[in-house]
Amino acid sequence: MGTEIAVCAHTEARIWALAVNPYHPGVSPGEPDRSAEERREELKGVLAQARACTRCSELAATRRTVVFGAGNADAELMFVGEAPGASEDEQGLPFVGRAGKLLDQLLGDIGLARAEVFVANVLKCRPPGNRDPLPVEIDNCQEYLRRQVDLIQPSVICTLGNFSTKLLRGDPAGITRVHGQPEVITLGHRSVRLYPIYHPAAALYTPRMLDTLREDFARLPELLALGVPEQPQLSEAPEPEQAPELEQAPGPERVLEPEQVPGLERAPEAGQQDAGSYAHEPDQAVDQLGLF
Ligand code: URA
Repeated sequence: MGTEIAVCAHTEARIWALAVNPYHPGVSPGEPDRSAEERREELKGVLAQARACTRCSELAATRRTVVFGAGNADAELMFVGEAPGASEDEQGLPFVGRAGKLLDQLLGDIGLARAEVFVANVLKCRPPGNRDPLPVEIDNCQEYLRRQVDLIQPSVICTLGNFSTKLLRGDPAGITRVHGQPEVITLGHRSVRLYPIYHPAAALYTPRMLDTLREDFARLPELLALGVPEQPQLSEAPEPEQAPELEQAPGPERVLEPEQVPGLERAPEAGQQDAGSYAHEPDQAVDQLGLF
């Protein structure tokens, strides 16, 4: 299959060009798959690259940390949110605020712990003032997410809210329309079960949405029980092409267990700090990233 460019020209959808299957960083057709340990090591390399990333000059100038994602690097289930908020930016971990607490609760309801899944975002840096991610930022950052998916090899990716759903489906259909509807999609050379659900931060404020989120979440175990979807034949795999080269960065850094610290979700808050207050170099000593 060749590379198609799906242009999502839709105001509500934001406008960005999504290359369908544009990359496959680690595996070329015929190459044996990597062990979990090899993939984990590669993931650490991607983490190091993301930490040094300056593709989005505003985000690079205003972030405290790069929130790469955290969890089990060999997880069956991966969640993809939107972008870090203030608490995540401070701690270097995804979903540590109120939305994260809700996510933990929902996971607990289906017998899972955060450490068993992998949680990431479309953007790895906090948009100042918690504004929406810009199309160019999504474009700049999507390579990291795609490499995470490629290396973690989840069987189910649960997209939280509009941004991740539209990006990974390559379609402007909004979350209200597609939530709770699993589909098998191909990302890179792998097929995965994509399952869009409401974003926990949105559900925090809307009881009806919370009910729907709970109902959709409760179906995750049956989806996981289906296992890895049928994989494309190697001969059908797209040619690797022009994946933008990620900047080289220093080697993997120490990763520690994240601490559970209460915080705030990404929803704009009264009196939140403006971008200028974060205008300093990223903290080189951030060690909270990842469970791996
Ligand atoms: N909302 C997100 O989308 N991601 C986070 O990490 C936190 C809140």
